[in-house]
Amino acid sequence: MRDLIEKAVSTSRLTRDEIAAVLGDNSCNQELFAAADRVRKQFAGDEVHLRALIEFSNFCRCNCLYCGIRAGNNLVERYRLNREQIISLAKKASASGYKTIVLQSGEDIYFTAEALAEIVAEIKKLDVAVTLSIGERSYEEYKILKDAGADRFLLRIETTDKSLYEKMHPKASFENRKRCLYDLKKLGFETGTGCLVGLLEQTYESLADDILFFKELDADMIGIGPLIPHEHTPLKDCSAGDLTLALKVLALTRLLLPDINIPATTAMETLHPEGRMMALQSGANVVMPNVTLDEYKSKYEIYPDKANVNYGELSEKLRQIGRTISEKKGFRGNSDRPLTLNSVTDLE
Ligand code: SAM
Repeated sequence: MRDLIEKAVSTSRLTRDEIAAVLGDNSCNQELFAAADRVRKQFAGDEVHLRALIEFSNFCRCNCLYCGIRAGNNLVERYRLNREQIISLAKKASASGYKTIVLQSGEDIYFTAEALAEIVAEIKKLDVAVTLSIGERSYEEYKILKDAGADRFLLRIETTDKSLYEKMHPKASFENRKRCLYDLKKLGFETGTGCLVGLLEQTYESLADDILFFKELDADMIGIGPLIPHEHTPLKDCSAGDLTLALKVLALTRLLLPDINIPATTAMETLHPEGRMMALQSGANVVMPNVTLDEYKSKYEIYPDKANVNYGELSEKLRQIGRTISEKKGFRGNSDRPLTLNSVTDLE
């Protein structure tokens, strides 16, 4: 195991079997987390980037078996913020010092690309980076959003196991999800993807495929979430994803994609009071505090008991581990400027 960790540190490469072997062996977890922490420090620095998350609609046309806001959950009280409400939240977040605004929603086609583009353009006047997380759209719609100034896009592949994907996402197309990610990359978005850890039937090999897919896509951001069962979904009786396994997937992702941005996800903190700090010491360098008003936050319940970020507590805990809160927009590689399409081509 130590040799495999060393190989990952020095070459940023492991085979599928090697990744699966590390995931399946718990004898060197502390060494793995420490190695990912060192690589994070070397390639992404000690700054932690805070992204202000605005959950602007919980309407969703999808029926993901695990998700609390799935279309089939009639017990959800649906809400949509209007343009003014979204922009006002973004202004508040920017005035408090946030350099990135993340607009997230269910797959709500009420918000056309044109309507969202207007909102993005308005928020961009605040000199912030804008990240969208609104699900699957066409190339043309993504282009409208990119042209309006959106910088980044988050769309987790959830799992690269096609048959598991299709079981978890009724009527959804695995090929279309992948198409979306490659379109986003082609359009010059900093592209985020990621997976759920703890999906039924998931194997170490399947998680290894997920990590290799992140590398193949050359993802700029990776979100890894342990699955947390929601009582009003078909997966209500399954057990929660394993936090240690999720941290190992995170750490290996850091080793194989050294300079990307990796959030310490809320789902990790929901599973363990120190989950976020554990992630930040196992390769993560981003935190996404939710700045949505409380009355809506509770309705955007993708899983129960979602943890909150307490700013004062977080900055004190970060100080204790020698980390600081960034004042930059925090693009990949801790730069303040996104890669241009030219520089993406240059890299190929
Ligand atoms: N609709 C957008 C999309 O599909 O990317 C963004 C919203 S979606 C609710 C955001 C993420 O929540 C998903 O990518 C999924 O991984 C995560 N999620 C949903 N239900 C979850 C659960 N029960 N436990 C952990 N994460 C969950």
